[in-house]
Amino acid sequence: MENNLSEEIFRMLDESKKICTSYPNKSYTMSKKVYNLCKEKSMTLEEGYALIGMAFACRAKSEINKMLKYSFNALEIFGELNNKLGQIKSLNLIGIAYFYNSMYEEALKSLLQALDVLDEFKDDFLLCCVLNNIGEVYYESMNHDTALEYYCKALEIITDINSDISTASLLTNIGKVYFTQKRYSDALEYHTQSYNILIKENDMVMLGEVENNIGKIHFVNENYDKAEEYLFSALRRLENIDNKFYTIDVLVNIAKLQLVKDSNKSLYYFEKAIQYAEKTNAKKKLSEVCKMVADYYDRIGDFRVALEYFKRYHSVEQEIMTSIVGNKLEMLKIEIEHIRETHKFEKMKIINNRLESEISFQRSELQKIRKINKVLEKKALEDELTGVPNRTYINYHLNKAWEESMLCDPVVALFIIDIDNFKKYNDYWGHIIGDQCIVKVANCLKDIQVKRKDIFGRYGGEEFIYFAKNLTYDKALELGNKLKSEVEKLCLKYTLDENSSVITISLGGVLGKTSQFDNISDIIQVADKELYKAKNNGRNIVYINNLVNH
Ligand code: GH3
Ligand code: MG
Ligand code: MG
Repeated sequence: MENNLSEEIFRMLDESKKICTSYPNKSYTMSKKVYNLCKEKSMTLEEGYALIGMAFACRAKSEINKMLKYSFNALEIFGELNNKLGQIKSLNLIGIAYFYNSMYEEALKSLLQALDVLDEFKDDFLLCCVLNNIGEVYYESMNHDTALEYYCKALEIITDINSDISTASLLTNIGKVYFTQKRYSDALEYHTQSYNILIKENDMVMLGEVENNIGKIHFVNENYDKAEEYLFSALRRLENIDNKFYTIDVLVNIAKLQLVKDSNKSLYYFEKAIQYAEKTNAKKKLSEVCKMVADYYDRIGDFRVALEYFKRYHSVEQEIMTSIVGNKLEMLKIEIEHIRETHKFEKMKIINNRLESEISFQRSELQKIRKINKVLEKKALEDELTGVPNRTYINYHLNKAWEESMLCDPVVALFIIDIDNFKKYNDYWGHIIGDQCIVKVANCLKDIQVKRKDIFGRYGGEEFIYFAKNLTYDKALELGNKLKSEVEKLCLKYTLDENSSVITISLGGVLGKTSQFDNISDIIQVADKELYKAKNNGRNIVYINNLVNH
């Protein structure tokens, strides 16, 4: 009778394991039911396996803390029963749980303990799993050579067992290491082998992943057509089974590919990757994509949009940090409970040390965040090319000055400054010398601004804004002419011709009381009209619309 029940229990647990990835909730309920039954009947060994089943289901549900708890409970039972197989399975799961929460040292400790037990209890399939998992820990902690060693050991053993999916997964892992080591042809060979196995097995998720990896290799080899072929095939496959998590990487790679071909389309894929990362709550991926998009906008000179993505990247990073610390503390709590139950009080000391190291980890993370904040501030305020304040900073400063002057209503002057015929200069000298010209003009204007303590910055392209307070019309005109003549004195010739004219600027200005304008863009608009007139009347001119006493 007891035997029959035990058989029935193992049959149910097998069933639960089979449906684990597709129906994790159902799988969990099944194992939990078995667990309750085992408790009732005092069937301890079966209870241990039921806990393993529950842990597996929690892994599929991404409930990692619960997964750890059940695995610890199972380990305790298998320890008391001196059941080696159960101990290996529990230790393996404990290792995976730590690994998922980026606690690589702890993960390694459990997995190496599992290896120890495997010395006494031979099971080649489990050995491969554990070796592969150790490889993954090393891979994620950037120790690629050691990862490769473990993967290769596992591959040797698995080939004898003939488990196709596991072989394919190991081949893929090895291919990934080769890719990071820039051994692209080796990487391609391993991924292709894996691909050929998976095609037979019809495993859509893994096929998508492998196609993505192959696409990446073709991309770095600048074989863009092939890259496109594989990446889009991966995309279709994963979209078909609606696996958003794996699709994120594919979308990112397609976006990178489009950057080479047609950067407009690239943003569409980046944005979609962001959407999927949000939907699947894949924070690490979300942060990576935001950073990539920020860098992209930075490169094309759209610093405002770049800043938006950079901020988003930063806030996701902060979220990740907080949740990592939270998770680690939660896991420590589970460990402490486990230790209490097993009466290993001496272990408390180890836990205390761990707590201390967690705290110091948090401190160093905080420092990292502060550093990023500094970069953020700098990026937010400075024009990358010239180092003078950028549009964001100018707007911020103008608005601040505006608010302050509302109270006393002083006379203010604002100039829009535009380099004359800059296109001609650029066309003749090329963009790089053109850039240098912008820098020289910016520095020249900045020197005056610094002495006078006014506000100045680059508004975009070859345009600048200059803002001063408490001036009469004559003083404003004097200032405008000073700015104009200093730039002329730079003697930046349009061509190599000795008689070539030199770079000049036109200034459109406005003078008035703060109260005469609704806001900053109002005053800028008036100045812009003056600039337009200056350009139409031959350039190298200062025009000021004097609104004082009007
Ligand atoms: P105008 O006197 O009417 O202002 O003529 P312009 O040629 O200066 O004006 P236009 O607006 O036709 O051309 C401005 C040029 O400035 C075109 C653009 O390529 C160049 N430009 C804008 N930003 C940069 C930059 O950051 N670096 C370089 N090298 N060129 C830039
Ligand atoms: Mg212009
Ligand atoms: Mg111009």
